[in-house]
Amino acid sequence: MSNARDIKIDPGDEEPPAAVQDAGASDRLQGLGVSPGIAIGPVYLYARAAFTVEHRELAPDEIEDEVDRFEWAVQSAEHGLEKILALAREKLGDESVQIFEAQSMMLRDEALYQEVVHRIRNKRCNADYAVMKVMTQHRQRMEASASEYLRDRAHDLQDVQERLIMHLRRGKHFSQIDPATIVVSENLTAADLLIFSKRGILGCALDRGGATSHVSIMARALGIPSVVSLHGITDVVQPDDLLIVDGIDGNVIINPDEETLAAYRTRQERYRRLLQEHKQLAPLPAETLDHVRVHLRANVEFLEELNVLKDYGSEGIGLMRTEVLLLMKGEEMKLEEEKQFESYKLVVQTVTPEPATFRLLDLGGDKMLPVAHREHNPFLGWRGARVLLDRPEMLVPQVRAILRASAFGPARILIPMVTNIEELRRFREIIEQVKDDLTKEGHASAADVPLGIMVEVPAVALMTDLFAKEVDFFSLGTNDLTQYTLAVDRGNDLVAGLYREIHPAVLRLIKRTIDAGEKHGIPVSLCGEMGGDPRVAPILVGLGIHELSASPSYLPEVKRVIRAINRSEAVELATRALLAKDAEEVSILLDHWLGDHGCKLDQFL
Ligand code: PEP
Ligand code: MG
Repeated sequence: MSNARDIKIDPGDEEPPAAVQDAGASDRLQGLGVSPGIAIGPVYLYARAAFTVEHRELAPDEIEDEVDRFEWAVQSAEHGLEKILALAREKLGDESVQIFEAQSMMLRDEALYQEVVHRIRNKRCNADYAVMKVMTQHRQRMEASASEYLRDRAHDLQDVQERLIMHLRRGKHFSQIDPATIVVSENLTAADLLIFSKRGILGCALDRGGATSHVSIMARALGIPSVVSLHGITDVVQPDDLLIVDGIDGNVIINPDEETLAAYRTRQERYRRLLQEHKQLAPLPAETLDHVRVHLRANVEFLEELNVLKDYGSEGIGLMRTEVLLLMKGEEMKLEEEKQFESYKLVVQTVTPEPATFRLLDLGGDKMLPVAHREHNPFLGWRGARVLLDRPEMLVPQVRAILRASAFGPARILIPMVTNIEELRRFREIIEQVKDDLTKEGHASAADVPLGIMVEVPAVALMTDLFAKEVDFFSLGTNDLTQYTLAVDRGNDLVAGLYREIHPAVLRLIKRTIDAGEKHGIPVSLCGEMGGDPRVAPILVGLGIHELSASPSYLPEVKRVIRAINRSEAVELATRALLAKDAEEVSILLDHWLGDHGCKLDQFL
């Protein structure tokens, strides 16, 4: 395309240094780069409880140390459970409280405790093994019991066993993790990563996970270069090995030679320069060559991110994942109305006059509260809107806090994982009631706070014509919409190859939603991770999207693409994509289109 204006899509003319391409194959693992940037540092190997427990015979002088280690693990596990119990007592149902009370009691059960100590002393076996043996025997007895109550408690004993072994395994507790290390683990939860980030870790490399798992989203929000889906990195690295994590192309290199190290330091520098260049794009509008304007907003997880929104030129917040505030443990738990209000007020004041879109707590799926309900299919279970409607004690304070914050600037409320129109109506009723209560109590709030729904369940996307009559806006949650449409778990690396947001089936649902929005005059935004992918931006623009939101650091690259294309040409591309037979065909179409239009992306690959 000859008429590209001030910004070219591909500013990088340097080829990656040869050593970057050729680093010794045996020391290089290929995964999925999910949070861009390059981290270089020593390994911190974080083992979770699920690993097999091996037997080790203790030397006589190790025995009492091992008993102490066991006692320490019991104390740490107890401390962790206390925190969870405090939360459960404050905000969740009796059932959850009972589960954790039962676990707490098991943890301090004198008979169990003495049996483990006896095994360590008399059979001279390591504490992990002793715990596993003793707990397994008890569990088996409970499972065989005639009492249903005891059979149910067997699950709790399993939990207690895992907790204890995890604490024994940690060796170093979270809070003692060395800063300036790269965390290597089989898998992490978003909450784990959050805690690690507070210790200043440099990067993260995981065996499991996908690009839209919440741990990956969290890594991007925290700016921690990360690679997931590495299949077995935990088997091949040793603590303190030197690691390069390339979150851009998904490479991880173990103990690199001098030449490779130097090449990656250069690459790290180039990436820093690119980020600087991005800042120059911030004040420019995201507008196509034929003057179609797209609003680029931020997906925000933490209050700390508010400082960088301007640097990336984001126009307000398209998605605030408020549940992340819940993942903050202990003191920082911000469930009470007053604390939430203070946070939301700050958000609104920072982005006004642009809107701040607060998604109501989206719990469940892979974003469980610490009080995990065991479900076989958590993504199809008690999640999002379903949890909130069952737990008004969580919903009401949040709605009150958002409405009160709306007095300080434009705020929008977004409901997660809606499936049926009746759910939407119940939310509206509750919100109206809360508004009345606030007015009676003399609290100020905006007269009009738009109410929207996440379009992330195919049933809703198929019925957006109906929903459009009752909502003020739609937000396409393509992370979930993709997993539910294609029946592919978004966090399961075994099926990651099947997880394609550009599958024509997903594109057709997006198109249907955009059309319904247009027909009924309500805005449609897209807040799934594909919104941050510059490569697919032409398709989304062609489908008619006018509002996108993504992790702030992705916005400049998306803007660069939007400013370099014509909407009319993108419409042709989208029309062909909708008719494609599968995701692969869309991908090929897209590559040709980008090539034909002079759009070279991924200059770092
Ligand atoms: C989505 O599903 O696309 C989305 C934005 O929500 P989350 O990733 O938090 O499930
Ligand atoms: Mg979702």
